[in-house]
Amino acid sequence: MPRVLVLVEHEEGAAKKVTYEMLTKARDLGEPVAVFVGEGLETAREGLARHGATAVYAAGGDNRLSGPLTGALAAAADRAEPAAVLVAATPLGKDAGARLAARRGWGMLADIVDLDGDLVATQNVFGGATTVRARVRTGTPVLAVKPNSFPVQEAPAEPEVVDLDLAEGQDATRVTDHVVQEQGGRPDVAEAEIVVSGGRGLQDPSNFALVEALADTLGAAVGASRAAVDAGWYPHQHQVGQTGKTVSPQLYVAVGISGAIQHRAGMQTSKTIVAVNKDADAPIFAISDFGVVGDLFKVVPRLTDEVAKRKA
Ligand SMILES: Cc1cc2nc3c(=O)[nH]c(=O)nc-3n(C[C@H](O)[C@H](O)[C@H](O)COP(=O)(O)OP(=O)(O)OC[C@H]3O[C@@H](n4cnc5c(N)ncnc54)[C@H](O)[C@@H]3O)c2cc1C
Repeated sequence: MPRVLVLVEHEEGAAKKVTYEMLTKARDLGEPVAVFVGEGLETAREGLARHGATAVYAAGGDNRLSGPLTGALAAAADRAEPAAVLVAATPLGKDAGARLAARRGWGMLADIVDLDGDLVATQNVFGGATTVRARVRTGTPVLAVKPNSFPVQEAPAEPEVVDLDLAEGQDATRVTDHVVQEQGGRPDVAEAEIVVSGGRGLQDPSNFALVEALADTLGAAVGASRAAVDAGWYPHQHQVGQTGKTVSPQLYVAVGISGAIQHRAGMQTSKTIVAVNKDADAPIFAISDFGVVGDLFKVVPRLTDEVAKRKA
């Protein structure tokens, strides 16, 4: 069976959900082989095994830098001679993937939302208005897949760990400081099972408290439209959409969001979409499973109370 390399995205060994999505997808294409860079291999190994990695190629180095990631991918590709290389379509994954492709003269496709057994990739472009299907024709395809594009399924394996034994100091870049963004107790918007997002309909930044209260009752992450982010009402890392994060939760609640095409591009694959908007013609209702036409200042507190009551 052809091997498929998967670059592990992780923080100190805690693999991100997109890693498991890629491993699940890689099993459709061949034999998944994880490429791990940095600290925390022991922590990561169990999850990689649970999601079907048949081998873990491991290298030292800083996994926040694309240099060591590219070096590890290149060395792993030399050994495994894979049919494809999967990286996450995150800034770091795309950087490392592009460097690998350039180094080897291989083709690369980015922002993939689907991939078939013949390695034909689907990409949504122009804010989701156009769907492109493309296939790499030169060398080994390097494929950057968007987080939340594939489901996660477990398939236990017993991976052997192969030390790539790369030379130290292969990268001229050094991390001199590392500040972790304050996240509070809520889950990351790109990884959460439930997302409650607020838009310009909230009218004032302080009203994001309504969105946060509903999110906390549901155990959800908080998202925001670009209009809300651009107005400085909520931090950029919460922005959902074409120029923000792509989310695909089980439940997406849009509060005071019109549903512009650029917003929908980042959330339209959510399993169930609920919208609260006072305008019955708002485009968000076209993709909603449940819609409430009403004033969010009345609807959202009552919804929060009702959820809290039912959970009690
Ligand atoms: C290149 C490009 C990239 C972009 N990328 C993104 C992106 O990543 N993410 C993104 O979100 N946008 C993006 N945009 C912006 C996008 O086009 C919209 O401008 C933006 O999504 C609008 O945000 P909004 O829905 O919060 O605001 P609005 O469009 O102003 O909608 C506010 C909604 O709130 C409703 N409302 C008002 N008051 C109430 C109330 N009391 N109760 C209930 N409902 C109420 C209104 O009916 C309205 O539908 C991008 C635009 C461009 C050009």
